[in-house]
Amino acid sequence: MTENETPKVHGHCLCKGIRFTMDAPAYLNACHCDDCRRFGGGPFIGPDFADLSFDADPTLQWYRSSDWAERGFCSRCGSSMFYRIIKNPSKIGVTIGALQDLPNGLSIKTEFFIDRKPDCYVFEGERERLTAEQVFALYPEDEA
Ligand SMILES: [Zn+2]
Ligand SMILES: [Zn+2]
Repeated sequence: MTENETPKVHGHCLCKGIRFTMDAPAYLNACHCDDCRRFGGGPFIGPDFADLSFDADPTLQWYRSSDWAERGFCSRCGSSMFYRIIKNPSKIGVTIGALQDLPNGLSIKTEFFIDRKPDCYVFEGERERLTAEQVFALYPEDEA
């Protein structure tokens, strides 16, 4: 690896039918919206949308979860892994659960849809926390 090359991280689903490589993230975000929690069984935590290079994807399927977004999962083992905006499909959000060599020390920069978070859990620390209204104001092009 040369000095200028960004370190890479790898990820895969449970059965390894889906394997990918991406640049090591500098920070994470979290989303508490109903769709993310229903998709992943809990809040979606992951790096910002990024370019992923797929080393294998024969079992990858996309489910259109809203007018503007779709979610990727493994059709063999059921791992819930990806999120992307339909208008910008090359940039993919991936859950940290899929990453096998996540660097230590990453912090969550922003929590999205904080007003949709159930009150039974809370992430410690101070950071930007955006309500649904604030998210849709920031990203109006993603709305239905
Ligand atoms: Zn799988
Ligand atoms: Zn969400």
